Amino acid sequence: MALIVQKFGGTSVATPEKIRAAAERAIQAQQAGNQVVVVVSAMGKNTDALVDLAGQLNPEPPAREMDMLLSTGEQVSVALMAMAIDAMGHQAVSLTGAQIGIRTDSSHTRARIISISTERLESLLDAGNIVIAAGFQGIDEELDITTLGRGGSDTTAVALAAVLRASACEIYTDVDGVFTTDPRQVEAARRIEQISYDEMLELASLGAGVMHNRSIEFAKKYSVPIHVRNSGNENPGTLITLQGSEDTASVRGAALSTHDARITLVGVPDVPGTSLEIFSRIADRQITVDMIVQNIGEDGKSDLSFTVPKAELDLALAAINESSEVLPTETILQDDGVAKVSVVGLGMIEQTGVATKMFRALADANVNIQMITTSEIKISALVSQDQAQLALTAVHKAFQLEETPAKNESAPTPQPERAEIEVADIVDRLHKVGMEELVIDDITLDESQARITIQGIPDTPGIAADIFEEVATSGILVDMIIQSFDGKEGLASVSFTVPQDQYDQALEVAEAICKRSNCRGISNIPQVAKLSVSGTGLRSHTGVAIRTFRALADNGINVEMISTSEVRVNIVVHGEHGSKALSELQETFQEFLR
Ligand code: ADP
Ligand code: ASP
Ligand code: MG
Repeated sequence: MALIVQKFGGTSVATPEKIRAAAERAIQAQQAGNQVVVVVSAMGKNTDALVDLAGQLNPEPPAREMDMLLSTGEQVSVALMAMAIDAMGHQAVSLTGAQIGIRTDSSHTRARIISISTERLESLLDAGNIVIAAGFQGIDEELDITTLGRGGSDTTAVALAAVLRASACEIYTDVDGVFTTDPRQVEAARRIEQISYDEMLELASLGAGVMHNRSIEFAKKYSVPIHVRNSGNENPGTLITLQGSEDTASVRGAALSTHDARITLVGVPDVPGTSLEIFSRIADRQITVDMIVQNIGEDGKSDLSFTVPKAELDLALAAINESSEVLPTETILQDDGVAKVSVVGLGMIEQTGVATKMFRALADANVNIQMITTSEIKISALVSQDQAQLALTAVHKAFQLEETPAKNESAPTPQPERAEIEVADIVDRLHKVGMEELVIDDITLDESQARITIQGIPDTPGIAADIFEEVATSGILVDMIIQSFDGKEGLASVSFTVPQDQYDQALEVAEAICKRSNCRGISNIPQVAKLSVSGTGLRSHTGVAIRTFRALADNGINVEMISTSEVRVNIVVHGEHGSKALSELQETFQEFLR
């Protein structure tokens, strides 16, 4: 018998009427011949109300007690949902995370799932019950209640679908599916019919709050098809699958995050081990770092900028202060008035000019870009928070995201979804070490590129657009782009990689731009090696950064450029270190390789 997991978010169970409507959907699915597990969130804004209540009694409530409190929201809704189904004459049993046996680690308020017992669920389902599971919660080794992080009910739903080998996981929410960007922020946003795990993973972690990003990690690792739908209507919704859409779009969606803060360390020693010193301390506190950019050094010193979640800014600064005892730093700058605008799409791999188009759209809207990082399927730009909305709207328009993209006539024949046997294997393996444990697919080395940096260029709207338009006009193919926040007021540095056979030509263009705009100078490496680690959840597993930096620093290899994303970490080092760096990374990540 097929099994379906249905998840109802807070607004979809906000009132008794809505609970009844959700109950009816579950009953219908059972009557259509499925076993049904329903995962529910706390009613309406109940979790926010509990957070507020805690804050009135203690500005820094102990995390353990916070979990004790927040988990009650879901306990209310599971019981009510079971009662509603019972009142309709059907069998239902509600269960908390502990009753199911959702084992997590002990990192309260952001616990990760280690394992899930299926015995009780299966016997209740076999006895004809609809099982109502509390979302967002689990239990640790001490039998203490834990929660998975805000929005975590999606992760409970997909994780249950994974262990129960469900045929589908339906996520019912208050919008018609996944849109090209938050429809509450950009009116022209369009529903996406089908999106790939990788695209959704990036979008979710870059600010698209419609899905909890860790739920997509589960979906990708365990091949769970997700169907996001509106609980208030019968519209078709969005499918999240391995393949995604086959059309000509370069960009699938755009996202905005206003929850980040920028930190810049001015004048840190430009030697191997600097990044390790800083990021390992930050990662030890499980803070996810994004948009890491390092200025190319002057006098053996460089400036290092990165973003961290605003809520963890103080914690990150404490970590940095700790490292500054061993690592002299001239100044530490911080700014929590920033926003990150990103575009994501698998189509970028094949299409050129996508980054330039984004920079031009921002320039035309008179938005100044403070920092840029690019990865294979995403481009992020850091802008001032008061220009965030303007920036998102401009980017959405530039890529014509409001229009349905044309079908790709020459699309390759679809690959079969991941084989059943491969999934079974990974379920077994990860059940031993932890279901949310890191999975790495591949580590590769590309020795075909060179790096050019335009240093200390006046930072005005449009510089990135101007540079990359000019570079593109010369027929030069740019791969990675990084724009850093220069420690000195009003200046920026722009680094990019190009194929080695276009290096001389690219250097000429860069020199011309530098001369014209009065830049401080050009720094270049005619031969670099780009190492790419690809997998799932690379950014949210903070250990990836630590291991990467340690492996390289231990071998005296300096990191020249880095870009991180959920599905890929790219590291650029001097060309001569390529093969050594590759073998070190392979050894470091051996145990996580799929
Ligand atoms: P639930 O309580 O059902 O989990 P959430 O509030 O967590 O609902 O997620 C749904 C909300 O996500 C929508 O109301 C919408 O404002 C927001 N959202 C952000 N980005 C997107 C996007 N790309 N597509 C759809 N909704 C989005
Ligand atoms: N109730 C929790 C929250 O509001 C979990 C969820 O809704 O997904 O964050
Ligand atoms: Mg949600």
